[in-house]
Amino acid sequence: MTEKFCNDQLTDAFIERRAALEENYAVICERIAAAAIRSGRKPEEITLLGATKTVPVPLINHAIELGLEHIGENRVQELMDKYDAILPCDKQFIGVLQTNKVKYLIERVSLIQSVSSLRLAKEISRLSTLQNTTTSVLLEVNIGKEESKSGFLPEELEENVAAIAELPGLQVNGLMTIPPICENSYDLRQYFSLMHKYFIDIGRKKSDNVNMNILSMGMSADYETAIECGATMVRIGSLLFGPRILHQNY
Ligand SMILES: *Cc1c(COP(=O)(O)O)cnc(C)c1O
Repeated sequence: MTEKFCNDQLTDAFIERRAALEENYAVICERIAAAAIRSGRKPEEITLLGATKTVPVPLINHAIELGLEHIGENRVQELMDKYDAILPCDKQFIGVLQTNKVKYLIERVSLIQSVSSLRLAKEISRLSTLQNTTTSVLLEVNIGKEESKSGFLPEELEENVAAIAELPGLQVNGLMTIPPICENSYDLRQYFSLMHKYFIDIGRKKSDNVNMNILSMGMSADYETAIECGATMVRIGSLLFGPRILHQNY
């Protein structure tokens, strides 16, 4: 580890954040387990992914020491900066991805969760094939059809799954979404349940290169609801690591 990371570790603020993380991690694991059981599943059927954007490496590493197995970064540059200093764990990509940055992710992450266009899928396929590897991806769905969000519109999903399934060097492992901000839990459940329906429907078709086993939905504010509606993976940032401090050096 670099000196910077070691120095950070000694500050009172860091020690406080670390203590909070320990408590948060225990509570979140318990709540995930309870929500799994409420939805008729086993706790181990739900994967917790730590969303680590802006989180300093020593804090990420402490989470890994506590037992966190999967992390997801949002920005390619931040992932690259932190990569070598993060303890061994499963690393994924969950952010908006430009085609010219795909090259940095091949063989660096186990899963790209945020495939939001056929063009992006084709570039992942092209570079994976060049490197003789297969990249696992999730297709991001813009379930609320929001202008501000990326992802496939629900009505485009079926034809795009079919087109992407044809591409070599790429395997579709499921779906990911960030639902609209909802005023009530009824609307939120509608979005999550619709995602679950697409997940099941696509899975039933059993095409080659499509292996629907991950439904990634639910964040700090709504992960329990997401699990109740069928999520197999929740991506939790601020509730686990504390509020994001903008403009800080990670
Ligand atoms: C930041 C982020 C999360 C986690 O958000 P929190 O509300 O802090 O839990 C999950 N998924 C994606 C794609 C994110 O960018």
